[in-house]
Amino acid sequence: MEKIQMKTPLVEMDGDEMTRILWQMIKDELLLPFIDLKTEYYDLGLEHRNETDDQVTIDAANATKKYGVAVKCATITPNAARMTEYNLKEMWKSPNGTIRAMLDGTVFRAPIIVKGIEPCVKNWKKPITLARHAYGDVYKNTEMIIPGPGKVELVYTAEDGTETRALVHEYKGAGIAQGMHNLNDSIESFARSCFEYALDTHQDLWFATKDTISKKYDHTFKDIFAEIFEKEYKAKFAEAGITYFYTLIDDAVARVMKAEGGFIWACKNYDGDVMSDMVSSAFGSLAMMTSVLVSPHGYYEYEAAHGTVQRHYYKHLKGEETSTNSVATIFAWTGALRKRGELDQIPELSAFADKLEKATLDTIADGKMTKDLALITALENVQVLNSKDFIQAIRSTMENM
Ligand code: NAP
Ligand code: MG
Repeated sequence: MEKIQMKTPLVEMDGDEMTRILWQMIKDELLLPFIDLKTEYYDLGLEHRNETDDQVTIDAANATKKYGVAVKCATITPNAARMTEYNLKEMWKSPNGTIRAMLDGTVFRAPIIVKGIEPCVKNWKKPITLARHAYGDVYKNTEMIIPGPGKVELVYTAEDGTETRALVHEYKGAGIAQGMHNLNDSIESFARSCFEYALDTHQDLWFATKDTISKKYDHTFKDIFAEIFEKEYKAKFAEAGITYFYTLIDDAVARVMKAEGGFIWACKNYDGDVMSDMVSSAFGSLAMMTSVLVSPHGYYEYEAAHGTVQRHYYKHLKGEETSTNSVATIFAWTGALRKRGELDQIPELSAFADKLEKATLDTIADGKMTKDLALITALENVQVLNSKDFIQAIRSTMENM
């Protein structure tokens, strides 16, 4: 059989621990036998980030700007324990944070739906994709403990020194106060990423804030989305037969619970944090989610939504068997390959991505799965496979298709 040829390389960002092990198995069993795989390889494993003073993360993000499509393995975000474990020179920042800041993107997460793993919400028939704004608000706040009577004001000092003041509260006793901000540029690129992704995936877009209460802050989000939609996307949406729908966040929550899915739900930073955990756990598991960073400049970075599965890795190091779910990492590769196929007009490459995804889901629906899924499946008589056997089972499903 002839291998599928590629034109432009994918930016390949390798990672850490158990997901690094899965990464190699996926390449060996599911990709290299079928594709003449072209990648530009960046080792984002923590040891190499430390050796390069994290320059490798910056190089990988720049390569993504050059080629347009990247696939990333889960990576360790160092904390105090990792400083000693890996003997680090510095507590390097989260690679995801660095890459997101450089590509200026929005992260879209959607559940992978498979027969036998049913969502807890019984009317959810299609995926709900969550788009979370990843800048500002409470995540970049300034807080103050107010010890006793007095007043708190917001003061804006313009470059020419003029001050504008707004009273927050006259305190009669002790209390608390908080200041938050966001930037029009960041909200605009969030809006454009959402509109682009809706067109790309052919799904309706919902957006919600609390603009009735927050008449300036949240209202600005609503206004920026409305203005960009009117000017740049209204005609394109009409042509694609999809809609943009704005409502209040509490109304959105109520409607989502009654909906059947099949749309994108754009959320402000905090709402997105909370709602993505709710949606993903109601759909099954973090290992059954796709995650893609879409930049308003047209760069795509595909990844798994879960971490490096440290606990399983330590078992693996001791020579014990693991049953780690590779679905999200396989779908990161298929997402990237399909996008590369579209951009380079290689239909065989996109078709291969579809086939590998179908083989993965068919394998599970056929009762062959990893332990995490076996615990929640509605199927009976399932076969629990170890990490490697599951990947090999997918290969044999694919070869028999
Ligand atoms: P995690 O890797 O997501 O794993 C947490 C637990 O969830 C696991 O112990 C496992 O439960 C279950 N799990 C997650 N993915 C699974 C899979 N593919 N198959 C089966 N079970 C799975 O989170 P963590 O252990 O808290 O974090 C480990 C490292 O990942 C940290 O250093 C963190 O910085 C990093 N991280 C990276 C990313 C990223 O790069 N995108 C995201 C989050 C975290 P059981 O142990 O009960 O089986
Ligand atoms: Mg969260």
